[in-house]
Amino acid sequence: MTNTGTYKQLVFTEKDKCRVCYTCVRECPVKAIKITDGQAEVIHERCIACGNCVKVCSQGAKVFLGTTDAVYELLNSRNKVAAIIAPSFPAEFSDLGDYMVLVGMLRRLGFDYVNEVAFGADLVSREYKKLLKKNEKPYISSDCPAIVNYIRHYHTKLVENLSPLASPMVATTRVLKKKLGDAVKVVFIGPCIAKKAESNEVDVALTFKELRSMFEANNITPGSVDSSDFDPPHAGKGSIFPISRGLLQNMGISEDITEGNVIVAAGRANFREAVNEFENNNLNSKHLELLCCDGCVMGPGMSSEGKKYGRRARITEFARQKLERLDEKQWQKEMDEYADVDMSQEFEAAERAIGTPTEEDIAEVLKSMGKSNPTDYLNCGACGYDTCREHAIAIIQGLAESEMCLPLTIERLHNSIDKLNLSSQELANAKLALKQSEKLAHMGQLSAGIAHELNNPLGVITMYSNILKDESNEGDPIREDLKLIVEQADRCKKIVGGLLNFARQKQVNYQETDIVEFVQHSTDTIINENGIKIKFEADIQEKRVSIDQDQMMQVLTNLEKNAVEAMEDGGTLEIKIKGTEDDVLISISDTGSGISPKNMEKIFTPFFTTKQTGKGTGLGLPLVYGIVKMHKGKIDVQSNTDPEKGPTGTTFIIKLPRNKPEAELAV
Ligand code: ADP
Ligand code: MG
Repeated sequence: MTNTGTYKQLVFTEKDKCRVCYTCVRECPVKAIKITDGQAEVIHERCIACGNCVKVCSQGAKVFLGTTDAVYELLNSRNKVAAIIAPSFPAEFSDLGDYMVLVGMLRRLGFDYVNEVAFGADLVSREYKKLLKKNEKPYISSDCPAIVNYIRHYHTKLVENLSPLASPMVATTRVLKKKLGDAVKVVFIGPCIAKKAESNEVDVALTFKELRSMFEANNITPGSVDSSDFDPPHAGKGSIFPISRGLLQNMGISEDITEGNVIVAAGRANFREAVNEFENNNLNSKHLELLCCDGCVMGPGMSSEGKKYGRRARITEFARQKLERLDEKQWQKEMDEYADVDMSQEFEAAERAIGTPTEEDIAEVLKSMGKSNPTDYLNCGACGYDTCREHAIAIIQGLAESEMCLPLTIERLHNSIDKLNLSSQELANAKLALKQSEKLAHMGQLSAGIAHELNNPLGVITMYSNILKDESNEGDPIREDLKLIVEQADRCKKIVGGLLNFARQKQVNYQETDIVEFVQHSTDTIINENGIKIKFEADIQEKRVSIDQDQMMQVLTNLEKNAVEAMEDGGTLEIKIKGTEDDVLISISDTGSGISPKNMEKIFTPFFTTKQTGKGTGLGLPLVYGIVKMHKGKIDVQSNTDPEKGPTGTTFIIKLPRNKPEAELAV
């Protein structure tokens, strides 16, 4: 039979959780992780679904495709459904005590049959024995689906060396179809993510972790079920398959044909090396038994507790008990009964490797990263690639960014600080600005949470106090109190609105905009009670600028409102636009009270206000600052520049890049 695996994405990144540590890049055996704008993303086409990244990501930013819904659907259908359990289950479910408790729990969940994949392992082992006896060519075992993916995608020449045998999971499924008919639905449960797309002969593949979540969701506990044994056919030595040195050595094959003829390699680094050696004919035609994880007991679908040797010990213990109880005659009878089940499996190559770039291109990228000769290659591994050369190749292939190079980034930082030629005062200011933006980022997160929480109760307060106020009689002293409540609740709503705006500035939706027209419109909503004169001046040829219009409108109206509020006795609000090739400058000046040097330090701090209670919220300028920074712009303030003259007003100048900043070029 040909391999009819399903082609679906199994591993994903939850971007919010990714903290750019490159551990997933480092641990991915096929470099299927792409870093763009400092964020890791799994490339479906390259991924072999080994699940290494899921295991190593301490932030939980890597997740795999959940299939519990599909299992519930099957269990709720009219079909008969069989659960087939991978032989590594004792390592996961040791907390249940006897394995029969697990079987009972599975039956309670709704499975009509519960079978051991270890019986399939017995059958497949027998086929391996026959295959190796023929001594036709060296084989690579094909029971680990991530390894099969690896060979099919990255070592296509070796596809013909994949042993043409079904995995124990598929073998068990075929046995059940023979026993129970084709209509039976099969759910595999094991420690593996790659199994989820291995074969469409199996209806759904689930991980042990997911099975636990199903037990929890349905309140199925060990104490609440009756113990029950697996359905036949029962397994023999297949039970030790997860800790034996693989299928080829199962069933005592090692004594004869495989003696010294099989090389076993497990784990990310080992299996790749073994495949390379095999490909280069360095293994004297020995067979390869490969596992992607460090044994299936260390698979990514296991709950994380438990160390390798403890897990192995549990399997040994289970297998020992099992073999003690095994009715060899019965087992042999069943092995014979299913001898005619097709155990064959064909595999097709599906090349996914990206061609290696030319030496010149690699050298050029390395040079652009300040690595002109081999002594510059630190090969420190901070970027997630083993060598600088591999990193450079990945940059050319579009998988990586030069910023991932830690030494380079540090050097660039030093250079840029040096270039700035900062005085100690300027350096202190730069640090202050950095602190300010960090503070704002935290404020943003916090305020979003608070604002959402406050919005609902505030709505209720406003509504009921308004109703009570309207119902109270004119002249009733309580009416004045109610008026005050309404006023103050409105004030709270304003603050909450400000907080929400402040928190929302996450993403910039760039739109091409006629900046002159846009700025002219910004004064439309300004309430000008003090007869302030508004002057407008534009000195710009190319008027098109890319900005987020909603956000930038908030910037302008906030600055204009502040200006107007600073000119209680009237004055002039002057707005000027200037354009250069790369930037636009918008200045907003008033002839108002000015800002004292003492307050100057605080104006961008959230909640700082000098205005009367009820008028100012102190969130306007922090919002302005955040939006301008998001546009990769700059904001400057000048106030009372001539101390001799007393207050001379304030000017805010915003500088914005004309175009949406390109995502930083990779090289
Ligand atoms: P709010 O306007 O709610 O007070 P802002 O963050 O917009 O909050 O401004 C903070 C403070 O900065 C104001 O209270 C005021 O003291 C000062 N400020 C801002 N703009 C001006 C201006 N154009 N002239 C004088 N003071 C200003
Ligand atoms: Mg304001």
